[in-house]
Formats: sequence, C-alpha cells, structure tokens
Amino acid sequence: MSTGAKTTHRPDAETGQFNVTGQSARLQAVRGMNDVLPDEAALWERFEDAVRRVFALYGYRNLRVPIVEQTPLFVRAIGAVTDVVEKEMYTFDDKLSGESLTLRPEATAGIVRAAIEHNLCYERPQRVWLAGPMFRHERPQKGRYRQFHQFDVEALGFPGPDVDAEQMILLARLWRDLGLADSIRLSINSIGDAAERRAHRAALVAYFERHEHALDEDSRRRLHTNPLRILDSKNEAMREVIEGAPKLLDRLGPESRAHFEGLQALLAEAGIAFDVDPRLVRGLDYYNRTVFEWVTDRLGAQGTVAGGGRYDGLFEQLGGKATPACGFGMGIERMILLLRDAGGGGSGAPLAYVVHAGDAAAALARRVAESLRDRGMAVVLHAGGGGFKSQMKKADASRARYALVIGDDEAARGVVGVKPLREAGEQESVAVDALPARLAAGADA
Ligand code: ATP
Ligand code: MG
Repeated sequence: MSTGAKTTHRPDAETGQFNVTGQSARLQAVRGMNDVLPDEAALWERFEDAVRRVFALYGYRNLRVPIVEQTPLFVRAIGAVTDVVEKEMYTFDDKLSGESLTLRPEATAGIVRAAIEHNLCYERPQRVWLAGPMFRHERPQKGRYRQFHQFDVEALGFPGPDVDAEQMILLARLWRDLGLADSIRLSINSIGDAAERRAHRAALVAYFERHEHALDEDSRRRLHTNPLRILDSKNEAMREVIEGAPKLLDRLGPESRAHFEGLQALLAEAGIAFDVDPRLVRGLDYYNRTVFEWVTDRLGAQGTVAGGGRYDGLFEQLGGKATPACGFGMGIERMILLLRDAGGGGSGAPLAYVVHAGDAAAALARRVAESLRDRGMAVVLHAGGGGFKSQMKKADASRARYALVIGDDEAARGVVGVKPLREAGEQESVAVDALPARLAAGADA
C-alpha cells in the first residue's frame, strides 16, 4: 500500500508470495505513519486524559467502531468528488471475499453506520465520542500524516443550534484546561441546506466561469462537479478570485438564518469569541448549515486543530431515518505539536526508583515497591543487577523524584534510604511503615 518509500516490498507477480529468504532490505514504518515512543506518549496520555475528562463533563459517552468499513460507506457519506474519496483513501479488495474495503479516513461515516445498524437513537438522542487512527494518503509533512489520530465527537438526533454551541463551548473549555485558550480561535459559517446550496451553486459556477483563467487545474475540474469545494482550495494564487465569489451566507433562507443567528447568540452568551468566515466550507460533502473550525497560527499551513459541523441529511443518505446531527474531529498529532510548542513536555516519570543489592535487600525492595503501588504510587523496581553506582544512574535517567536505596544494612534495620533526585537534599533513613507518608508529603510539595 505504501508508495514513495525507498524500499518497497512487493509479492512476486506470479506466485503472490513474498520472498523473505536472504532479504536484506531494512524493515521500516510505512511512510507517513509514525511510531509514538514512550517519552512522547506520556504527553499523548496526559492530553487524552484531559480530553476524556471534558467529554465526560458534558455527558458524551465513548463508542468504538471498526477501522475498516465497506468502501461504499465512505463514497456515499463523504462524496465521490472530494479529495478524500478521489485520491486519499486506502482501499483494497479483501483477498477472500473480494469485497472492496477501506481504512477509515474519518469517523463520522462509521459512527452513523453503527447508529443506524443498532438503532442507537431509537429511544433518545445520543452524545458520543470516539478516538483512534484515521488513514489518508496525503503528502506527509509537519502536522499531516497518512495515519493520524482523532478524537471525534457526535451529537446524534439533535436539531440544534444548542448542541452546535455546546460542542464549541466544550472545546473552549478544553483549550482553557490545556492553557491554549490564547492560541486557538474559532471560525464559523453556515453553508445552508441542500436547496440553498443548489441556488448558490448556480451563481458560483457562473462566477467562476467568468474567472476560469484564474483557477488551477483541480478547481477547473471541480467547476462542474463540486464548485463549493473550490472555496476550500489552499492555493494562495486563487485567494483573490475566491474572496470575490458570491457568498452562500447571503442566500440563506429564514430557517437556516435563524439557526445560524441562534448559534451566534449562544456563543456570545457563553463568552466565546468567534469570526464569521463566509469562505469556510469543509472538505466532506455531508455537512449542512453550521460548519466550524478551530485554528492556530502556530503550526504553519496545518493550522486547523479541530473542525466539524452539522450533517442533518447523512442518516437518510445512508439508509436510516432522518436524524439531525452535529459533530467534529480533532487531530491529536496537531494538538501534541501545539502542546509541545507551548512547553508542555512529556513526563511519565515514576515517583520513585528502587535500587537494591543483596538477596535480603531485593526481597525488601519487592515488598516496598508493591506496598507503595497499593497506595497508587508509581514505582520502578530496578531489574538487571549491577552495583549501586550504575543503578543510581538508571534511577536518575528515569526522572523519578526519589531513589529508594536498600542495601543489606537497610534490610536488617527495616528502613529505606530516601534520596531526592530532582532537588538538593541528603539521603535520609525512613522506616518502612513511615515510607508512604514521607513520599506522599513529597509528592504534594
Ligand atoms: P485540513 O484542512 O488540514 O486538511 P481537514 O479539513 O481535511 O483538515 P478534517 O477531515 O475535518 O480535516 O479532520 C479533522 C481534523 O483532523 C483536522 O482539523 C486536523 O486536526 C486533523 N487532520 C486531518 N487530516 C490530517 C492528517 N493528514 N494528518 C494529521 N491530522 C489531520
Ligand atoms: Mg484535508
């Protein structure tokens, strides 16, 4: 599936078998798909914990759907004439059944499929969230990968605009919790309903036909298939012609207008600053009415950290009962870049690292470590032998707050040497029974 990698591993054209004997090519991760190693994963975990806490505060519940779905789900939901479906999906034929399958490029389609399949909204509307990998065959660069991760939030069965506002208020709270409120701003727009978009489309096509010389190749092709998508072009050369295009916002009917005004009133009431950006359209076709993006200046061209909107027609389009809904996706990698940029380094350091030498000391070390863990304290017990000096080096490298030192002498007296590693301080002897209280006091300091 990978292209562009220096070494490609292909099966033999005739036998379909991989030749693995005598193969010296280095095995490496697929281009655009990243490993997250423990130092960095600590920041991921802290971020994910903060996100899950906020979701719970608003009553959103976790749901999980497969990473692989039948290809037509995405084509019907996202739209055949979109970047994602035209060129970014990892699609393959299942070897055994022959059916066409796709690694999910986004989460909403699968969630709506699952909601229809299990009649999830039969009794009441549902607030749900999902986390996991998404796959798009894009050109890898900072903030843009081929496997990336999202938190995805969906309110299913709500006509809004109260839930539209709720999701933006929820994200504003998350930015505050993370200390990022000053670096991320909100843009909103309304792209109306299907009839309003049809009327606007005619005006848009007429306008772009008059300016066809200024369009790039992609946009010229889109002119008669999906002209709204031209507005989403990131081509700087087309900025001016896009600025001058007729605005859908000027053509909204009374209901869409009332919805959009309702949303703005709720955001104002909550004290959330926002811009109305009439050029804002999103890359997937299922959206209607409210669309929104949270954008930062600190990640270059990949500045959109979260984006979403309403998709009131998607359930019906996928064969379900009409169910109004609103949701958004948040890119985890971009949030991690932003958090790191803001100085939020990874931690994952234990409270204590236990060094020990001698059989009696090792037995006491095991007992002490387990009893501290019983109290919820993170403890690394040295493994692999070695003298005190080399063990102390490992204790320091673990970034633990304390080294707990146990030799034969300590074992005999039933005490543990407590040595602060992150601040100045002498080693002190602490009785085993007093150890939890001593470390807890240090942890609170
Ligand atoms: P962009 O305009 O940057 O291409 P998008 O409109 O395609 O983003 P969505 O499909 O709405 O993005 O996905 C929601 C979020 O997922 C984005 O705001 C971004 O944070 C993240 N995201 C999207 N594509 C990628 C990618 N290839 N790599 C990393 N994160 C991504
Ligand atoms: Mg994109």
